Amino acid sequence: MRARPFAPPFDRVEVDADAAPLPFAERFLARLPGSIPVRLRQPRDPAPAGRRTVHVTREPGAFLKPCPCSPGAVRCGYRVFTPAFQCPFGCTYCFLRLYAPDAPLTLYANLEDAEAELAAAARKWEGSVRVGTGQFADSLALDPWTGHARWLLDLFERLPGVQLELKTKSARVEALLDRRPPPNAVAAWSVNPPERIASDEPGSATLAERLEAAAAAARAGYRVGFHFDPVVAEEGWEAAYRGVIGALFEAVEPSRVAWVSLGTLRFPPRFLEEWGPRLRGRRAFFGELVPGEDGKLRYFWPLRKRVYRVLAEALRREGGPELRVYLCMESPAMWGAALGWRPREDEVEGYLAAGASAGAPDPGGR
Ligand code: SF4
Repeated sequence: MRARPFAPPFDRVEVDADAAPLPFAERFLARLPGSIPVRLRQPRDPAPAGRRTVHVTREPGAFLKPCPCSPGAVRCGYRVFTPAFQCPFGCTYCFLRLYAPDAPLTLYANLEDAEAELAAAARKWEGSVRVGTGQFADSLALDPWTGHARWLLDLFERLPGVQLELKTKSARVEALLDRRPPPNAVAAWSVNPPERIASDEPGSATLAERLEAAAAAARAGYRVGFHFDPVVAEEGWEAAYRGVIGALFEAVEPSRVAWVSLGTLRFPPRFLEEWGPRLRGRRAFFGELVPGEDGKLRYFWPLRKRVYRVLAEALRREGGPELRVYLCMESPAMWGAALGWRPREDEVEGYLAAGASAGAPDPGGR
């Protein structure tokens, strides 16, 4: 698999004095190219800022939280595990642009605390639980320097009842390919049509690079996931997304796909107040958006329903009726109208967990 050269997407590093002696910080600093300046930060120094700066620090709070989801939506039981915060990519629609526009790429060095917290939580969980690291950071974009993937795969391999999802818009799967896949690990990609990626996901891998990485992970024995999120329903969207679905199943066997999520463009009204002037003239962001139950602006119900139906049908036609397709941040009524199924909340978790394990090959042969 060809990958882009390893140019770090950051140009300076600040390390808190109390985090510097921790093993993660030492490993991270040892992997940096000599051209990146590193500064030891004392408690009274100004807070690091900007997405070109890496800040190595301690997480004083919780690493593990339930996915915040949205009021009134069918929750899928996802848990968010956060060894890092902030993303090097500059996607137009990312909620981090609103909530943390100037936060540095933050890496938490006290990973031993994260491990203990996860192990304690896992002891209480019943059934199969999904945990992902891609909500507040990209799971793999910084992996050549953080080594997070290797650490997470080792950690979750010891927790067989817990599904790990590494979600990314990068093609940085080297660490995954370098190791036998644990049966409970899923590598997942957010996808959009190539033109949308070029216009609105700067710095990320192209669709072809993402699918090539997904194919390599699937060949290595991983199950893979895909997230069509946000789906932007501009003129020509049907053909554009059908093209993505066709390319996806050319790259990856349907039997290797653990799940596919669908979510249309949505954002809080404050997003437009903050970013509106910079998005002027972009029809995708100023079309007919209406506030939903949760206050977020979304496409009007009939358009959302049509998007979900068209995409779910195309996915099942290409990927087979067993493909696990779910909606992100949508109401039970929308699930019923678009997918023909109004799940109880606890049903979604079991449905997706079954997708992650169904037909999982024995990776022992690799
Ligand atoms: S549906 Fe989406 S937002 Fe809601 S819990 Fe699941 S992943 Fe989180």
